[in-house]
Amino acid sequence: MDLKYEKKNIHSTITEKEISMMKKYSKEYMKFLNEAKTEYLCVEYAIELLTKNNFVDINTLQEIKEGDKVYFINKEKSLYVAVIGKDALTCGVNIIGAHIDSPRLDIKPMPLYEKQNVALLKTQYYGGIKKYQWLAIPLAMHGVIYNEKNEKVVVSAGEEDDDFCFTITDLLPHLSRDQMKLSANEFIDPEKMSVLFGSIQDRTVKKDKIKENILKVLYRKYGIKEIDFARSEICFVPSFKAKYVGIDESLIGGYGQDDRVCAYSTLKAIVDIANKPDTVDRTMIAMIVDKEETGSYGNTSMSSLTFDMFMNRLINMSGEDADLLEIYFNSKMLSADVSTCVDPCYEEVSDIQNSNTLNCGVSLEKYTGSGGKYSSSDANASYMSEIMNLFDREKIVYQLGTLGKIEKGGGGTIAYILANKGVNVVDCGTPILSMHSPFEVASEADIYMTYKAYVEFFRMR
Ligand code: MN
Ligand code: MN
Repeated sequence: MDLKYEKKNIHSTITEKEISMMKKYSKEYMKFLNEAKTEYLCVEYAIELLTKNNFVDINTLQEIKEGDKVYFINKEKSLYVAVIGKDALTCGVNIIGAHIDSPRLDIKPMPLYEKQNVALLKTQYYGGIKKYQWLAIPLAMHGVIYNEKNEKVVVSAGEEDDDFCFTITDLLPHLSRDQMKLSANEFIDPEKMSVLFGSIQDRTVKKDKIKENILKVLYRKYGIKEIDFARSEICFVPSFKAKYVGIDESLIGGYGQDDRVCAYSTLKAIVDIANKPDTVDRTMIAMIVDKEETGSYGNTSMSSLTFDMFMNRLINMSGEDADLLEIYFNSKMLSADVSTCVDPCYEEVSDIQNSNTLNCGVSLEKYTGSGGKYSSSDANASYMSEIMNLFDREKIVYQLGTLGKIEKGGGGTIAYILANKGVNVVDCGTPILSMHSPFEVASEADIYMTYKAYVEFFRMR
């Protein structure tokens, strides 16, 4: 009898067949990372994937019945997906929710200025970043902007290999003596994080020659004027592509894996199950939401009541006499967000026996938060047991993580928002290294195991 718990490394048991399935999955996943670097682009990608697999916009239907596959788009930046099961909604639904916003640099409402023969755009960072990591790297620009006719213009530049890109300058070491004395938190002034945007003059004008020329270029390319920046959502993200990391090609590096790795697994899982001929028992709900990185505030975040509206829509369209709160009470959820794993170079911030390790599977995290479990959603023991038994039964390799040593920092996910509604929730996602950096790293085996865990959760009774 095995009394002692020991972690398993996926590579100690993985079969050749699983490896080839995993490689195929990774290829598509990396393509997704490259194509969907903002929440707008993620939603677009998701709709394409769902449409290809016969999911329909819920607005096109009058009623829903067992086996129906629907989605609801919330302001182009978050998405709720449902596959209707055999059981009544009142029995509860199986929910997986991930977020699709990632740390990045947004532009300010009036960003353009010129100085020392260069045009620049002022930025404001979005989410928790280590500011120095975003300097002197190639950046791409993505977003939407509206013109005075209220027409939406999609902006995307800096992604193609033969395309131009953008960057933020950093001070040369030779003149950084004073700067290097400051703490890492202080030595980059966020007001100095302006993006290099151009340098050619418009010689027909007297002043602001470069700014004027940039405005001409922008008008030519996008039909926009300076004031239109105020009605835009434009951001800068790393322009480099996702790649295998390591001589054995076992890890995947790329921007925005927090939390697009779990968002992708969630979408793939619901689509793959929906493609099987048998219908599921419990209704499955997949969601990819916005604004987690800034605290889940706003109408596209998980806190938005739009999710309740979607659930009410399902009740009304199913013709069932159900109560939304009772559905929540009987529902189960995986909060699909990345966790950290022990960084081999910074072991001291982790409690090793309560931390994730690369290649040891999807992370099941009973609680997040910080210090005295503040702001955390702490899963009930009975629910932990239910999920652990499911994973054991279905041979899902998982590990039990926490977010570092108790007083070293901390963080949260969307878990508490659904838990507050009465849903049984636990955090479950891929462990990653260099979280919130421009190039986050995860194990390919853990990524694939995350997908498999989500498939089994969705199907659970
Ligand atoms: Mn996250
Ligand atoms: Mn995050």
